[in-house]
Amino acid sequence: MKSKKNPIIYIGGPGYSYEHFEPMIESVNTHFQEILSSLHFENQEGVRTNIDLSLDVFNPEKIRAYACPVDTKNGFYKIEMTAGLSYHIWLASRIFESSFNFFPWLKELKIIDKEKRKSGRRKLLADFSYYTCSYAIILHEISHIVLGHTDYLEEVTGYGELHEFGESGSAISEDDFEIRHAFEAEADRQSIEFLMVFLDEALGPDGLGRHIRFPNRLAVYEFLVYSLTSLSTLLQQLTGGARSVHPMPNERQYIFHSSITSYLQRTNLVSAEKISDRMPFWAMQAGEKLGLRDSSDALKAIEVAFSLSRVDDVLKNIDIKRFQHIARN
Ligand SMILES: [Zn+2]
Repeated sequence: MKSKKNPIIYIGGPGYSYEHFEPMIESVNTHFQEILSSLHFENQEGVRTNIDLSLDVFNPEKIRAYACPVDTKNGFYKIEMTAGLSYHIWLASRIFESSFNFFPWLKELKIIDKEKRKSGRRKLLADFSYYTCSYAIILHEISHIVLGHTDYLEEVTGYGELHEFGESGSAISEDDFEIRHAFEAEADRQSIEFLMVFLDEALGPDGLGRHIRFPNRLAVYEFLVYSLTSLSTLLQQLTGGARSVHPMPNERQYIFHSSITSYLQRTNLVSAEKISDRMPFWAMQAGEKLGLRDSSDALKAIEVAFSLSRVDDVLKNIDIKRFQHIARN
């Protein structure tokens, strides 16, 4: 983590090993429980959605995450991710601990907790990025369930498991491919909606943070774009950039940041107006600095926006609404 010139040395890069990450595992479980305790859903028949969310700690070398139905009639589902995936998310987040200057406002970031001051701003930002990206992944899996994707697949194909890293088995038809692609894009979009709700809570009443304080809201959103871009780059790294039912990593980055904007347009118009022009610019810059392919070209970004506009048509055609779960108060 010494080179200032090339920041792309973080994944499996020098200086970190699984042992450095292991003490974090306990906090992953705490966060799982936090997420589950604040999301309450039921299906169209009024059956409560119960999700068993677990971290497979016995496979630190495996990269895997999936959502699957266990007993849909009684509302039971399962989500599992490996500690190996969690470790890689953590490794990717270390980029913000490096000496590369990503944010012009870094020195204005205030550390409130005295005992955290010795960690330094960069490490605290890196840790915040780790939590943000972990939440995004877990909320993506939860989204597959509550958006009705697993229920749909179980009813229509008899197999409701949704794997994130190409373990779905047999070859699928062109139509199935399109549906699964739409599911992945929709889960990405929904995960950010959920994430924003959690962040609104975590950042406190003025939205600048409780433990560390950002100088202003623009800095918060710029950081979020960088953090989610690091996740997109990690996914590029883990999949080798190969085509799959998932949107390509640059498309996922686009979904992430455009979902932040659309969330703000509904919940905080003042912020939405301030960031909507800057968002694509931050995304292109972050993509370039973090090595995300096809993300720093404005024309490509427009192409991505057009290609994703098909997602809603596909979902409408299969009437996914029938399978959607409903938020309970
Ligand atoms: Zn997925």
